[in-house]
Amino acid sequence: MKSIKTKILLGVLAIGAIGTFLTIGSDGILMGQGEKSSGDKIEITCEEENNMADKTVKSDEKLKAALTPLQYEVTQKNGTERPFSGKYNDLYEDGVYKCVVCGNELFDSKTKFKSGSGWPSFYAPIANEDVQQETDRSLGMVREEVVCSNCGAHLGHVFNDGPQPTGLRYCINSAALDFEEGEDGDK
Ligand SMILES: [Zn+2]
Repeated sequence: MKSIKTKILLGVLAIGAIGTFLTIGSDGILMGQGEKSSGDKIEITCEEENNMADKTVKSDEKLKAALTPLQYEVTQKNGTERPFSGKYNDLYEDGVYKCVVCGNELFDSKTKFKSGSGWPSFYAPIANEDVQQETDRSLGMVREEVVCSNCGAHLGHVFNDGPQPTGLRYCINSAALDFEEGEDGDK
């Protein structure tokens, strides 16, 4: 399938890795193999330690009920939607992209650009504190994972082949985002 080859090629170009150990899920979702080695992934649970004051944390059960299977797979299981399949891949309306899990405002449409990768691409988050980066060593590649800093939802990855002014490419799953049309009056 051409689109998957494109993804693999991009990954190889970006990282220089030669491994392409992809597992295709039954419904075509690209899935990671096992847990990350670092073990510092934020788990979404009801436990007290996660009930920090300004965090919106839901139990796994509630998340499963609130999210579509794809949204759950992507945000909670580090899944990746098929390239060119996401509803925001070709959207260039003015507005804000929020975390689909907790509503945290993550990306502004002003920073969205056409990367050709098949996933919504941004050169910067609204604020650096909105997202966190963690090293992801799954799929035989070393990538910088991007997660929502509020709820820990997996969003996508960031690569250093983006446009100016940052040179970064935040490659984000549509399934992790909730678009809210322009609220700044320039629409
Ligand atoms: Zn979130």
